[in-house]
Amino acid sequence: MALTGLQIQKLLPKTNCKECGSSTCLAFAMRLAAKKAELSECPYVSEEARAVLSAFSEPPIRTVTIGPEARPLATGGETVLFRHEKTFVNQTGIGVAVADTLEGSELEQRLKAFRAYRFERAGETLRPDLVSVAYESGTVDRLLMTLERVAALWDRSIAVRSDDATALQAAAAKLRGRRIVLASATPATIDQLGAVAKETGSALAVAADHFNDLYTAVEKLRQNDFKEIFLELRADSLCEHYQNRALLRRAALKSGIKALGYPTIQFINTGNPVDDAIAAGMEVTRYGSLVVLPDFDPAAWVSLLALRQNIYTDPQKPIQVEPKVYSVGEPTERSPVFVTTNFSLTYFIVSGEIENAGLSAWLAIPECEGMSVLTAWAAGKFSGAKIGSFVKESGLEQQTKNRTIVIPGYVAQVSGELEEALPGWQVIVGPQEAGDIEGFVKNVLKS
Ligand code: SF4
Repeated sequence: MALTGLQIQKLLPKTNCKECGSSTCLAFAMRLAAKKAELSECPYVSEEARAVLSAFSEPPIRTVTIGPEARPLATGGETVLFRHEKTFVNQTGIGVAVADTLEGSELEQRLKAFRAYRFERAGETLRPDLVSVAYESGTVDRLLMTLERVAALWDRSIAVRSDDATALQAAAAKLRGRRIVLASATPATIDQLGAVAKETGSALAVAADHFNDLYTAVEKLRQNDFKEIFLELRADSLCEHYQNRALLRRAALKSGIKALGYPTIQFINTGNPVDDAIAAGMEVTRYGSLVVLPDFDPAAWVSLLALRQNIYTDPQKPIQVEPKVYSVGEPTERSPVFVTTNFSLTYFIVSGEIENAGLSAWLAIPECEGMSVLTAWAAGKFSGAKIGSFVKESGLEQQTKNRTIVIPGYVAQVSGELEEALPGWQVIVGPQEAGDIEGFVKNVLKS
């Protein structure tokens, strides 16, 4: 339901008290209509108005949170078709499947490897989110035993996958309160599993082969006031699946179809590890909320998690590091100074390459609003004068007697200006690409 600013204003207190930061209630209403303000910013909204306006201000794709309270995983909550319009909100949760037929020791080994897997990139720790237990044994007791082990060894989100509603019901009871995902209800089991999910505090994936069936099944749940739903629209090919993802997102965002405004879940198993990784990458780029891979292959995971980090970074707020002078290795007063911008990736790559070259150095990072080297230079934020002022204000001149500063090769043109700004310093033009820093250190700095 879309409301205009005037319609919203009629529901506000109309006292123009300004406590929300807007000069009038109408101005606040206009900001709310444009989704540029939160209803909670006005402390005086009546309960009645709040009920109406909350429904209006809900994202078109519902936020569904799963996992234990201590480690929740929020999914959905999206408001745009394309990340450059605003940003994507909750990144794709990525998980791995384990079968309940695995022997205890093998299960334990896999879970421990999965749990330990993580890596640092651009200042963030990237790691997996979900373990999905597949009911393949045909014995509910075996499934429950496996779930018990998984729950003990894995402290994040869990899904249970089966076509057998009785098995899912037992799993939900076993992990009651842990907000697991039951996957999946079909039109035939929707009533039974909807009641089970509601009673046990689980989320429910709804699987269907066609939009109409999916819509009808989700509507049933909604009528029973159950909304912790994941959509699993099955397709015959990757192409059809890709198309369906766009149609689902458009239906929720552009047509306001509430029954299709839920996060998605996808279980991948193409039989080929490379195709699995490609399909999972597609989920990350095209609206997937939860994706489960059949195996844990660190080579594929490193790409997937890095891709996810890139897609879910706010395009209007480049990830940046604090502008200051960083130590790489153990620099002394004899160490050279490198300079680059505070765009996170640039900082981490440059510092990593200096370290790989076995050099200890000072790394000066002036404020460049998170822009890359060339963009910052073009915007006038990485000029010789600006770098010179930063070096003086940072106290670097007292820290080093070496007085050698290396600038990125892409901004060789600022060297003259920098020499004027830093009399007594030797300005060296470094390589254009960070990958060439090692050779540069060997051939130029250490020669
Ligand atoms: S805080 Fe509420 S009542 Fe006050 S001006 Fe803002 S919208 Fe109006």
